Amino acid sequence: MTLEDWGWSPFFTEKMKPWEKSGYLPAKVIRAEKNYFRVWTLQGELTVRFAGKIRHKADSRVDLPVVGDWVMVEPQTGQRGIIHALLERKSSFSRNLPGRRKTKGQERVEQQVIAANVDLIFIVSGLDRDFNIRRIERYLTLVSSSGADAVVLLNKTDLCENPENCKARVEAISGNAPVHLFMAREAEQLDILFNYMQPGKTIALLGSSGVGKSTILNGMLGEERQKIGAVSQADGKGRHTTTHRELILFPDGGILMDNPGMRELHLWGDTDDLTESFSDIETLAADCKFTDCRHKTEPGCAVTKALETGNLSSERLVSYHKLKDELLNLKQQKK
Ligand code: GDP
Ligand code: ZN
Repeated sequence: MTLEDWGWSPFFTEKMKPWEKSGYLPAKVIRAEKNYFRVWTLQGELTVRFAGKIRHKADSRVDLPVVGDWVMVEPQTGQRGIIHALLERKSSFSRNLPGRRKTKGQERVEQQVIAANVDLIFIVSGLDRDFNIRRIERYLTLVSSSGADAVVLLNKTDLCENPENCKARVEAISGNAPVHLFMAREAEQLDILFNYMQPGKTIALLGSSGVGKSTILNGMLGEERQKIGAVSQADGKGRHTTTHRELILFPDGGILMDNPGMRELHLWGDTDDLTESFSDIETLAADCKFTDCRHKTEPGCAVTKALETGNLSSERLVSYHKLKDELLNLKQQKK
């Protein structure tokens, strides 16, 4: 196994430069517990804690390691070690912890990073009665603000009368993200996910409860376990893994993140993130009379005009406003 198998790239080589001569090992956090971490290094898996000084230096939870992070570890005897530094993340997923801290008597939203360095997110949505295009829109915004790429999986195709129609509606709002019709209960459909897996790339699933994420994960892990079984028999050692890892390295390359925190994600980001997920509205807005147009009651608004001509649906504009208000609100609380 190499560092690259676990997602190492020139980006991190650059970030570890200050520690090049320290003798510390680059290590990938594969599981995070309250007081210790399980990491993978070129010298094997270690159980590590972080040096007190990191905890003191950390302004907030944002600076503490999470699953997917690369850290610099000083190895110790007995497969143990100390984390001395956290390498800058390529991407990160956060959630809000409202009211955890108070500044000047005011509640402040605190950001908690729950996963780092994910490359590709499958946004899973059910095509049953829960189908909600606005929710998919929100997840797309969230993914774009994390720095990861997105693929939309429309699951439970069997429960939908006109899946192609739903797919077309999602494609109209998904920008560059591919959209697939899916049926998690059929094992061969998992190939859609496996086709996106590449050595060193980390994928994760995101979506509301009940959409089929566990069914998909179990399906993928089931296939993986069968392969690992075959490998073990071949080398005669019959090794198997018992501890739960939140990052799973697949035999054919690729890493799957199975992180419970990802299931409870809420929106975090900036108004700029809207530019990507609502590029249609932002494009229209270029023709508004006022540069600070809110697209509500302003004269000469190209966005509200598009409503009249049918170039924009009112649902989409409503969700744009809702999301924007939420993000602005968050921004004020952050100050
Ligand atoms: P999670 O909460 O997102 O992890 O969702 P689960 O994987 O637990 O799935 C919720 C329910 O949906 C379970 O009863 C699954 O069997 C069912 N389910 C998952 N995929 C499909 C599918 O493609 N079609 C149908 N009809 N049901 C599915
Ligand atoms: Zn306008």
